[in-house]
Amino acid sequence: MSAVKGWCPGAHRPMLTGDGLLVRIRPHGGVLTDAAMLGIADCAAQFGSGLIEVTSRANVQIRGVTEATYTPLIAALGTLGLLDPDAGSENRRNVLASPLAGCDPRARLDIRPAVTALEAALTADTSLAALPAKFGFVIEDGGSFDLSDVDADVRFTALQAEEAIYFAVSIPDGTDGDWIIHMCAPETAPSLALKIARTFTDLSQGRQATRRMRDLIGHIGLAHFVDALDLENGPLPPFQSRTARHSGADCLGFHADARFTGVAMPFGRWTAGSFRGLAEAARRFGCGELRLTPWRAILIPGVAAEASAKLHETLTALGGILDPADPRLAVIACPGAPYCLSATTATQTDALALAAAARRLTPTGIALHVSGCAKGCARRAAAPATLIGNDGRYDLVFDGNAQDSPHLHKLSLDDAARLLCERAEQMNESAAL
Ligand code: SF4
Repeated sequence: MSAVKGWCPGAHRPMLTGDGLLVRIRPHGGVLTDAAMLGIADCAAQFGSGLIEVTSRANVQIRGVTEATYTPLIAALGTLGLLDPDAGSENRRNVLASPLAGCDPRARLDIRPAVTALEAALTADTSLAALPAKFGFVIEDGGSFDLSDVDADVRFTALQAEEAIYFAVSIPDGTDGDWIIHMCAPETAPSLALKIARTFTDLSQGRQATRRMRDLIGHIGLAHFVDALDLENGPLPPFQSRTARHSGADCLGFHADARFTGVAMPFGRWTAGSFRGLAEAARRFGCGELRLTPWRAILIPGVAAEASAKLHETLTALGGILDPADPRLAVIACPGAPYCLSATTATQTDALALAAAARRLTPTGIALHVSGCAKGCARRAAAPATLIGNDGRYDLVFDGNAQDSPHLHKLSLDDAARLLCERAEQMNESAAL
């Protein structure tokens, strides 16, 4: 076992954190059976600290593993079928799919065969050993969920074009957007994905700090990359896009049209007991399967309308968030102390204490980012307010991110709460003028 400091841990390469080793599991297609979830809950309780987190790449991680419990944990995860063959294939198999793949009535295509084939191809292709761990693929079925806010180095989006279903293949364009570089038949997506990845590793050789497609495109330009790919590209056929789709907090609660219930925990963090309760609820009220989302929520598909109220009650009793208006969704925080060695403040506890005040800043979306330090791991984008840990207290930035110069320094939690309320009142007064 080689524990690493820094980001992108896996199961074969755990990360050393403030509360021990962090072991990340990458479920195939973001799908877990209730039995696998029960197994993960047991593993977290027996070999870790009992904390389980859902990540923004729809992965699951077990916290608080020790040197002594790591080896039996890996053996147990292997028995559950949750391990890749080795650290290299675990790194490469970075594929995120539409969360309701295969059971979304609005989807243009069942993308599960493409997801499975791409995962298998990435696992097998050892020539891509140089592919950086954060290099990720997204496959969208064009259905209920919009993944355009999810970071992707290569994106396949199912589209209807001229009576047929294609994948629009896009990559970052070097600014803040994506650019469609090709349309392909779904069955050719895996081989095309490998070709794009190989072109990326070839062109990245010898270039410093080129870990993502946007870095490379920034160096060489989109046209150079597309030329190097050498695809046979006719003019793109006219295609229909779809705009009214869900993302983020919209997935919470019961959705009668697609028969699923979405539930989240603050910061995606579950206890072994609540994770077990969720698995049992999925077995009792759903189809026994759970879907992980990049918004750190978990979906239970196959819920009948008549069972939805009882399921809602069960998940609420576990502490789950099912209402998109829940103020706990107003805050985002990194793990903070004691989970990160760089932190001096209990960011997640503090963020929850400030959630109601933060929600007054803006009625929807993230209002407050609480970061343990200026690295700002939980969020790169600006937020209406950002608190940055500073020697046990907080610096405060309005309308910026954790790396911006703070407007105020060394605040207590009470100071921060008061300032958030004052800011909300000022904004209300300005809006009323
Ligand atoms: S932002 Fe700082 S304190 Fe928070 S997880 Fe990242 S490195 Fe740790």
